[in-house]
Amino acid sequence: MNALAVIASSMTRTYPVPGHRRSGVNALDVVDLALPHASFTALVGASGCGKSTLLQCVAGLDRPTGGSVRILDVETTALRPRDAARFRADHIGFVFQEDNLVTALSARDNVALPGRLRRRPLSRGDVDAALERVGLSAQARHLPHQLSGGERQRVAIARVLASRPDVVFADEPTAALDVAAGADVLDWLAQLRRNGTTVLMVTHDAAAAARARNVLVMDAGRIVAALPGGDPDAVSRAVLAARAGGRARAERRQGALR
Ligand code: ADP
Ligand code: MG
Repeated sequence: MNALAVIASSMTRTYPVPGHRRSGVNALDVVDLALPHASFTALVGASGCGKSTLLQCVAGLDRPTGGSVRILDVETTALRPRDAARFRADHIGFVFQEDNLVTALSARDNVALPGRLRRRPLSRGDVDAALERVGLSAQARHLPHQLSGGERQRVAIARVLASRPDVVFADEPTAALDVAAGADVLDWLAQLRRNGTTVLMVTHDAAAAARARNVLVMDAGRIVAALPGGDPDAVSRAVLAARAGGRARAERRQGALR
């Protein structure tokens, strides 16, 4: 087995700009990414630098304009949509900032959903144990609109705790939460890693990013720095340095054009 769970090579993503047929927004400007099995990596950077685009392209929710992605030794960018959906159901879990849940399903049924999609149903005991771990036993029968934003987020976490996907992609999972609730979410993501899941978390928050083992810093569609987690100040400094470096590069480009 490859030591890497996720490999993205020379990934680009250009969004068309209406009225400009030739130019576009280069949201990903040639990105390489390698995530070892059972690693917890944060991708941090200023708003608009391309973090969500990267996550969506790696996870197969969006198609990169160029480059390729391999997950668990499968070239996912070469899969047909139906096979890609099957692969995601079998191996991948998601936690987003909001809109994590199927609105017509109870908390319990949302947690049970990945098992149903994989045709390997989770036991009622496993589902309830996951809800208990996130402190939501009493709300198991609630529909998403009967839960607070923080509770909905915890259901999404219970879902990945129960279904134990091989890879979890989380996009700003703490952004809508208060500090304590955010800290819990980060603890659970770290716990997933300890149980063998590969976790990629996108965040603009240096303190949240510092909770990961590995931190990648993004600026203007590129990964420009990598550092170990642990020190929120070091992550903040790396993000600020990346922005300053990006501005200097942009100014040099402008200068060259003049
Ligand atoms: P981040 O998650 O880091 O805040 P995004 O990946 O959402 O950044 O966006 C990166 C860049 O791509 C931004 O300039 C954004 O405006 C642009 N962008 C994102 N999604 C689209 C889209 N669907 N169409 C056009 N431009 C987009
Ligand atoms: Mg984003």
